[in-house]
Amino acid sequence: MTNTTLENLKVIEDKIKACCLLNNRDPKEVKLLLATKTVPANRIKTALLAGYTLIAENKVQELRDKYDDLKNIPHTNHFIGHLQTNKIKYILQHDVTCVQSIDRFDLAQKINQRLQLENRTIDILIQVNTSMEESKFGISPDKAIDLIRQIAILENVKIKGLMTIGLFSAEEDKIRACFRLLKNLQQDIIKAEIPGVEMTELSMGMSGDYEIAIAEGATIVRIGTAVFGKRIYPDSHYWDESKN
Ligand SMILES: *Cc1c(COP(=O)(O)O)cnc(C)c1O
Repeated sequence: MTNTTLENLKVIEDKIKACCLLNNRDPKEVKLLLATKTVPANRIKTALLAGYTLIAENKVQELRDKYDDLKNIPHTNHFIGHLQTNKIKYILQHDVTCVQSIDRFDLAQKINQRLQLENRTIDILIQVNTSMEESKFGISPDKAIDLIRQIAILENVKIKGLMTIGLFSAEEDKIRACFRLLKNLQQDIIKAEIPGVEMTELSMGMSGDYEIAIAEGATIVRIGTAVFGKRIYPDSHYWDESKN
């Protein structure tokens, strides 16, 4: 089991590098984030000890459950699931440094309020629904700039870029269109020169489509299955924090 995880990691790392070179990109520009939903702490530990230290959960409960087992191994925690406002406190208590799934103002505002009390800041990415599927979370692309202008005023949440989940499709063109849309949106936001907003990160690409995402400009790819193996439930189950 453990060996497989490490072997898979090596394979993915090599593929990411090769894909960067193929697309004239510096491999240092692309971070491998491990999506660890349903993966037991001991297997995550294996990856952390091997130097793969950027991880993310989808559900607050899993973050809490695994926290004690992992806290002594240096690593970086992002959060990539749909977040309910009543669970913000747990995100902040468990060393999450970036919430990638901010898709509404009230969520950003409530996180900001708590951070103000604690006198600290957190990084966020704005999640955009580039596939326009109703089942997916994320702000619609045409409303993203307005949302970013609103959130930019909040002093304790720092916008660092955009996140998206590409269309689940066998048609590569349609997947690519999602990632291209996110890249174009990033460029538009950069041009808008909104004070306090950085657009350095593009979190896009998962096990099935990360090579397309890298070709389109991803700086963070979020990989689960290709490293840890298949999960038992469909992904929609894990994306919705209200389903436990
Ligand atoms: C599960 C998940 C991933 C990783 O998906 P895989 O297909 O298993 O690589 C990436 N992003 C989000 C938001 C996820 O929930």
